[in-house]
Amino acid sequence: MDCQEFVNLMSGFVDGDLVADQAADWQTHLDHCPDCSQFFQSFQSSRDIIRFLKSKPCPLEISRRLHDLVVRQLSRCKNRSADGTPKSD
Ligand SMILES: [Zn+2]
Repeated sequence: MDCQEFVNLMSGFVDGDLVADQAADWQTHLDHCPDCSQFFQSFQSSRDIIRFLKSKPCPLEISRRLHDLVVRQLSRCKNRSADGTPKSD
């Protein structure tokens, strides 16, 4: 297995989707390739951070700001024609 193949199969390995032979090859590459080992560690850290953020409710202030931003964006779109120029009534 080369590094490209390793990266391609990474999420499959983490999700348990690889067949046993593939998983063993993948694990062997991980054990012997420092670059991929380091890459896998940062991949795992990113997943942990995303999991952590998903478990937290969105703060009310951020919800309000997002809502205001969407409303402003939508009203701006309504006031423009399809080519992006302001509508002249
Ligand atoms: Zn590698």
